[in-house]
Amino acid sequence: MRDSGEHNQARDGVIVSARDLSIEYRSVSSRFRHTAVCGVSFDLREGEVLGVVGDSGSGKSTLAAAIAGLADSGGPEGGVGSICGGSLRVFDTELRGISTRARRRLTVKIGYLAQDGAQQLNPRLTVAENVAEPIFLRDRRFDSREAGHAVATLVDAVHLPLSILERQPFELSSGQRQRVALARALILEPILFLADEPISGVDLMVRHDVLDVIPELQEARGFSAIVVSSDLAVLTQVVDRMAVLQGGVIVGIGSLNSLVASPEHPYLKSLARAVQEQGFPSGRDRGDGPLQKSTSQ
Ligand code: ADP
Ligand code: MG
Repeated sequence: MRDSGEHNQARDGVIVSARDLSIEYRSVSSRFRHTAVCGVSFDLREGEVLGVVGDSGSGKSTLAAAIAGLADSGGPEGGVGSICGGSLRVFDTELRGISTRARRRLTVKIGYLAQDGAQQLNPRLTVAENVAEPIFLRDRRFDSREAGHAVATLVDAVHLPLSILERQPFELSSGQRQRVALARALILEPILFLADEPISGVDLMVRHDVLDVIPELQEARGFSAIVVSSDLAVLTQVVDRMAVLQGGVIVGIGSLNSLVASPEHPYLKSLARAVQEQGFPSGRDRGDGPLQKSTSQ
């Protein structure tokens, strides 16, 4: 599905590069301003899965939406953040002040599962039509057989039976709906995949079914990913490194082990205590690498 001959995806294997990035929300009159992300710096490398963890309101969704290319796009009344400081480069394209055309070119290469992705499925379309929709929004004349094949492959890859293709979203369980949303976000074979709270709203018993699919697909397809969650135990199973956000600021970035090894920041101290008490599995988190302060990244 990806354009052949595409190039210039990343410089030196860096897919996302944020430097001193700040994002604010403005009221229509611009009298009210709220800085939700404040001076954030980090890199996402090719093939890496980076977690973003933090309490509710710490700026995770604002950051993810900006990386997905949604910041600045709707104006103040659009309810989206606006990049007001620093820089955010995705595939070596600067997102601050990006033109509509360049944004469209860029977002085709990004799969974005929004926080309410499963609720955003179109209730009037079948599962197959929901998953295929991004293909036809991009190219109305795309071969329908080829699209059907891509949809079936992906639905199978997220471990859903092909019998659900003709069903409608309301007929599915929460876990199935989320996996359909996941398939939809991946149908254009993105180079970068962003998942915002991928298991929120999914029944406890089937959370693993949804979560396990992410590292599986990442290995099969080789995309780079950012997974956002307020649940540390969730993230440790799927990420290589994590960035800890508090009040819009990165207070630590690195593997879980390195983050909790010698925590200085009070928030990291409480994280270390939680890890000690609950004994999280290390999962993909390889536990190496020193804690890097956001500014040194
Ligand atoms: P998280 O995803 O970590 O819960 P968010 O990125 O949703 O955090 O929100 C970060 C901060 O920005 C919060 O203080 C929140 O109230 C504020 N915020 C989020 N969306 C908007 C919006 N559309 N307009 C104004 N403020 C917002
Ligand atoms: Mg959020």
